[in-house]
Amino acid sequence: MPVDLSTPVKYVKGVGPKRAEDLRAKGIETAADLLYYAPFRYEDRSNLKPLGRLAPGETATVIATVRRVQAPRFRRRDLGMIEAVFEDGSRIPLTARWFHAQYLANLLQPGVRAALFGKVEFDTYLGGLVMLHPELEILRGEEDEEDEALHTGRIVPVYEAAGKVSARVFRNILYRLTSDLSAMEDPLPASLRQRLRLPGLAESLRALHFPPQNADVNLLNQFRTPEQFRLIFEEFFWLEAGMALKRSEERAAAGISFQLTDRVREQVKKMLPFKPTAAQKRVLGEIARDMASPVPMNRLLQGDVGSGKTIVAAQAAVIAVENGYQTAILAPTEILATQHFLNFRKIFAPLHYQILLLVGSQTKKEKELGKRAVESGFANIVIGTHALLEEDVQFARLGLVIIDEQHRFGVLQRKALQQKGVSPDVLVMTATPIPRTLALTIYGDLDLSVIDELPPGRKPIQTLHRTRDEIEQVYSFLLGEIRAGRQAYIVYPAIEENESSAMKAAEAGYRELTQHVFPDLRIGLLHGRLPAEEKDRVMEAFKRGEIQILVSTTVIEVGVDVPNATVMVIENAERFGLAQLHQLRGRVGRGAAQSYCILVTDKLTDAARERIRTLVESNDGFYISEMDLRLRGPGEFLGTRQSGLPVFRIGNLLRDQEILELARREALEFAERPPSREEYERAMRYVREHWQQRYGLALVG
Ligand code: ADP
Ligand code: MG
Repeated sequence: MPVDLSTPVKYVKGVGPKRAEDLRAKGIETAADLLYYAPFRYEDRSNLKPLGRLAPGETATVIATVRRVQAPRFRRRDLGMIEAVFEDGSRIPLTARWFHAQYLANLLQPGVRAALFGKVEFDTYLGGLVMLHPELEILRGEEDEEDEALHTGRIVPVYEAAGKVSARVFRNILYRLTSDLSAMEDPLPASLRQRLRLPGLAESLRALHFPPQNADVNLLNQFRTPEQFRLIFEEFFWLEAGMALKRSEERAAAGISFQLTDRVREQVKKMLPFKPTAAQKRVLGEIARDMASPVPMNRLLQGDVGSGKTIVAAQAAVIAVENGYQTAILAPTEILATQHFLNFRKIFAPLHYQILLLVGSQTKKEKELGKRAVESGFANIVIGTHALLEEDVQFARLGLVIIDEQHRFGVLQRKALQQKGVSPDVLVMTATPIPRTLALTIYGDLDLSVIDELPPGRKPIQTLHRTRDEIEQVYSFLLGEIRAGRQAYIVYPAIEENESSAMKAAEAGYRELTQHVFPDLRIGLLHGRLPAEEKDRVMEAFKRGEIQILVSTTVIEVGVDVPNATVMVIENAERFGLAQLHQLRGRVGRGAAQSYCILVTDKLTDAARERIRTLVESNDGFYISEMDLRLRGPGEFLGTRQSGLPVFRIGNLLRDQEILELARREALEFAERPPSREEYERAMRYVREHWQQRYGLALVG
């Protein structure tokens, strides 16, 4: 009987209610989930080495029989070590050792046949070959329902176990499940399949689990057989097709067509405090074109820290205001919102715009007045934090939404602000460059502008790594810079995962510095728990140069702009993530003088060492974010916040970037120039039915 893909997994042959529970814990709920549960590795068991031919140092699969299981002779009991001696008829035995593995004691009975995969070593004490903690698969003795040919004598798929559902059980179940997929429909458009020579869906799923005899095991392990390629491509293709659909729907709404008159140009000129760089000009052009068009703008502006995104945003705001519309700017922290507010007030002074700040810490009265100014249309530009999103904040005529540091917000917050206007233009900005693969997957519905050039006269920041015992040297260097008229930041990390622990660290550092290290210098303290006026006062004093050293938590991570500050000391730098370190470093190097970032560390783990090395090596935010992605993986990289990262079953963003690029090109092409009406409609129906459930993303929202 052909498989119905939506069948609950417990009704799939060989599963049953008990196993179904184990499978559910892995997110496998239906027959389809099971079919797409890809092996993480393939093992060539068609051509195995006998034990007698193993050499120390090699990683190998062997199939052998347990001769005896022995208690460790000398090790401490609590290691729970199990040691089994295997033989296969060649005269050389192999000893396998597992620690903390008492559970194996029942499985490894003499006479049991098993496949072992691991690194072979020579144990001088034993005078023989050992495998330490090999992967183990019992071949006989556990259950004998399927013939052994499924598990040996061929290239076998190796699955991550799900509770009691072992790799072997998966193989049994999937063998049955894939044996009749003939009735399965292939949703990929036929013209696409032909042009790219992609194998059919049923054939591909079958080969994913049970590769044909002549398959190349290396290719399989790289996930690059034609069948694997097709499945990965398909997964990305539908994701991007959904993005294309979303784009076209968003674009179908009637947006505002802002007029780019001579007066707008004049006002922009009046406002610009300096000559824009070529990259700023190009991006300004892209934004102006979007704003002039009747299609709503949905644009992501990426630019490394200090690349000058603010002025680009300001110019977009001029276009909106001169056309009689309001602009809303959303920032993640009060400090950043306040900085923007002061900055914009200065920038827009020649134009006499009404600029308004709306943040949570304002008094009720201030907020009331603010809201009234927004509602009446008196305020031209409103800058704020989450407070802006509250329901009772209503705009008279919202035309442009700017979201700073987009990665700090979710899609829903973007939408919430957008809905306060009628199809306003949207510009989202981020200073955390997002590797291209991620940008394509999470922001695939946005157009992309990149500022890839720093303002003129910037010297690259010098980044140095110092250990705790070199701190005196760091302080004397810092003193030298202060004596030369510069300013510095010293940033402390949270010791635990909360702001109050960061506050304590910063306060302790502040006491030490004011009392013992630099009693003669003017030092300020900034952390998230200070009252808003106090924060503003400290920031302003630092900006004016009255404070020489600003001791702080990561509240200064984004947006703070004091060009005279040339030294950034980061205490316990090993505790910070790469992106955060790069952001913090971006607080210096904003003027013409040489700037320095000094990373002070205590104990370093390997991962921390790698992060520090990356930073010392490079100032390039895009390179750093690629490294970050590699070191942490996509999920961690985006954080647990509503990151909007789609869930992939077979595709892997680190491994499959080029397939993703291809799928995106094909999906855009397909959506813009469909080969036929029928194919297009069939595909879009498929997307509407599957997208949300398959990728965990909202198609409309
Ligand atoms: P970010 O992209 O990190 O938001 P900012 O917009 O804060 O960067 O700009 C960083 C600094 O560079 C600011 O002091 C800004 O005034 C200055 N700046 C930006 N563009 C230029 C330019 N074209 N010429 C000179 N200085 C510039
Ligand atoms: Mg900025």
